[in-house]
Amino acid sequence: MNSTAKTLAPIPLLDLESEYRALGESISAAVQRTIDSRQFILGREVAAFEEEFADYCRAPHATGVNSGTSALHLALLACGVGPGDEVVTVPFTFYATVAAIGYCGATAVFADIDPRTFNLDPAALEAAITPRTRAILPVHLYGQPADMDAICAIARRHGLPVIEDAAQAHGAELAGRRAGSLADIACFSFYPTKNLGAAGEGGMVTTANPEFARTVRMLRDWGQERKYHPVLKGFNYRLEGMQAAVLRVKLPHLDRWNDARRASAALYDSLLDHPSLIRPFTLPEARHVYHLYTVRVPARDAVQRSLDAAAVQTAVHYPTPIHLLPAYATPRYRAGDFPRAEVAALSVLSLPMNPWLTPDQVRRAAAALLDALNALEIPAPLCDNRS
Ligand SMILES: *Cc1c(COP(=O)(O)O)cnc(C)c1O
Repeated sequence: MNSTAKTLAPIPLLDLESEYRALGESISAAVQRTIDSRQFILGREVAAFEEEFADYCRAPHATGVNSGTSALHLALLACGVGPGDEVVTVPFTFYATVAAIGYCGATAVFADIDPRTFNLDPAALEAAITPRTRAILPVHLYGQPADMDAICAIARRHGLPVIEDAAQAHGAELAGRRAGSLADIACFSFYPTKNLGAAGEGGMVTTANPEFARTVRMLRDWGQERKYHPVLKGFNYRLEGMQAAVLRVKLPHLDRWNDARRASAALYDSLLDHPSLIRPFTLPEARHVYHLYTVRVPARDAVQRSLDAAAVQTAVHYPTPIHLLPAYATPRYRAGDFPRAEVAALSVLSLPMNPWLTPDQVRRAAAALLDALNALEIPAPLCDNRS
């Protein structure tokens, strides 16, 4: 590494500071407006944001909740998932996907990923379905929709509902259809680092099914439609007015922000031509919104340290597949059961990606990555398990 690297400003993985600077006074005004209205929980701002987000996703119904995890929990319950049931999902995801299945008393059954996209492999899904399967939960990892045509065709054949984990995919599309309207019901997170982030926690469930929408709406607020008359055992999963007000300020910018991410990804793609690197693969029908720009490299941890020394922030999403995490391990699964997920966990590296990256920053990050790969002692062959 050259000695000036340390003195260069770090290239940030995320850039919440620029996001809030770009929005100026409008966030403070939205917060103040909510305080003035005293509608702190649900209320006008939440109702308005639900309508705007439903429109954005081209979904008939949207219900605001207090996190992406709560959205997953309620979507699973709306699909009738309960104790003794199995839900098929991927072992390569953020563990909230799997935790929510556990909250229902159900069992997560894993199906391996397509090594090109890191998303649920339809053939593996087919093989994982049993008579106990009650729902299918694909994840649109890194901002690219899973292969929903194939997944939904299998689901239809088995009479199973499909739930999208769209927590990383606000605005992503498949054949012109938006995430949030690609299956029976979909879940979003507004965790601050997501493509659309609240100033705190938040989430949303979208669906075209009015019964699912009604159940989720009741369950998020103690199982009641009328105060003090709960008809279901529900939860306190309500979205706050202030979060909705902040999200309403941001939503009109989302498409532009996603376009900026896509432009940076295209620049990375053009620069990162190296025999021991695999760039993100996008399905021909997909509009990827690059929540993360994640490559595969050999000697990943060493490469990450080199980038750190060059002031390029990176992260690993995710270092351990769920079936190998102590908290989620079960006798059902062992190391080696999901080789594609396990190899992915060893090789993935997420590069700086946010709407405020400049072409210069992308070029610097790409150059540092190529330097790091060229400096590897033994040109380690990349474990390329694309099939
Ligand atoms: C962030 C995330 C969640 C959880 O969302 P929270 O709002 O943090 O509860 C679920 N699934 C995936 C894939 C995520 O990235």
